[in-house]
Amino acid sequence: MTNFELMGAALDEARKAAALGEVPVGAVVARNGQIVAAAHNTRETEKNALHHAELLAIDAACKALGGWRLWECELFVTLEPCPMCAGAILNSRIRRVVYGAADAKAGCCGSVTDLFALPFNHHPMVEQGLRAEEAGALLQAFFKDLRVRLAARPKWKRPAPPAENMKKP
Ligand SMILES: [Zn+2]
Repeated sequence: MTNFELMGAALDEARKAAALGEVPVGAVVARNGQIVAAAHNTRETEKNALHHAELLAIDAACKALGGWRLWECELFVTLEPCPMCAGAILNSRIRRVVYGAADAKAGCCGSVTDLFALPFNHHPMVEQGLRAEEAGALLQAFFKDLRVRLAARPKWKRPAPPAENMKKP
């Protein structure tokens, strides 16, 4: 598969996340152009802060390949990895990371910081911007829909304190 197609598979994963009401992020681990593992964000569904697409894909790839060293593998992810996922990329020795949209709030491949430029013992190659418009459009549609749903929700009102608390003894 080409890089374009591998990112397409990651975008398909992101759409699966969107269908679950999750922030649409998808990831694929590939070796020699073949998909080893694919996953999407399931943080809300699984109620687990660790369930980012990249971590799940790396976890599945380690299981599929029977080892933690993914030095022959490449990660394709629709959104710039966060600090946790960039840490997992370092620890799994993934050789190359290709991401779509930049993440100004949490991205650790150059947006907020560049963890891969620090003197750790592993330095993956990084490419950004592949199919970024599609990844960004998925995210924008998700957050637009979320804002509409939040605006339509009845406003929460602070309950009045019990009457006895109002009186001073
Ligand atoms: Zn992450």
